[in-house]
Amino acid sequence: MIGFDPLYFVMLAPAMMLAGWAQWKVSSAFRHGSEIRASSGLTGAQAAQRIMEAEGIYNVAIEPVDGMLSDHYDPTHKVLRLSSQVYGSNSIAALGVAAHEAGHAIQDANRYTMLVLRNAIVPIASIGSNASMLLIMAGFLLQLGNLILLGVVAFSLGVIFQVVNLPVEFDASRRARNALLMTGMIRPEEDREVGKVLNAAAMTYVAGTISAIVTLLYYLIRLGLIGGSSSDE
Ligand SMILES: [Zn+2]
Repeated sequence: MIGFDPLYFVMLAPAMMLAGWAQWKVSSAFRHGSEIRASSGLTGAQAAQRIMEAEGIYNVAIEPVDGMLSDHYDPTHKVLRLSSQVYGSNSIAALGVAAHEAGHAIQDANRYTMLVLRNAIVPIASIGSNASMLLIMAGFLLQLGNLILLGVVAFSLGVIFQVVNLPVEFDASRRARNALLMTGMIRPEEDREVGKVLNAAAMTYVAGTISAIVTLLYYLIRLGLIGGSSSDE
């Protein structure tokens, strides 16, 4: 079982290609959307501010953050961090990304069920995915089947997190596009371009989740828990 395993590559290669394609897609969509100036002339930071105010949210700070596509909402500190390509830019892509992050702040303020669930899973899922590799490797080296199994259970916690995170991401993008249209910050003809950027971003989450599920399936087949065929080699 240890060493080169063709099954691993057969199963994971397509998932990794999909993930790579999604990464390329999101950066090219973002680059394209960054070249189109939104007719409203507002920056990403201003758009996020307006969207949150329209929802009665006044306790969330907006700060610039380093890194490309590093934009995120921090529910613990109630801070919306926008990358430099988004914070001060008035491009279609900047407004889309900023509105998406504001969407997460709205989810948080409204105690959106899937976000509450996701946040509840975060601590255990991050411990699980950090410990899983170590447990699986140690299980192989010490020839302890139960330790491997424990590692796979730990890995599956991270997979559950990724699955629960998907509706959260789709919902944030849906809220973003609605808010941009309703407030008039984005015109209907501009919404198409916003959609391209946000859909590409969502694809990276889908691809990551598929990779994680395929990896879990691989473990389960190799442990003989599914598939039926013997894993003795
Ligand atoms: Zn998001």
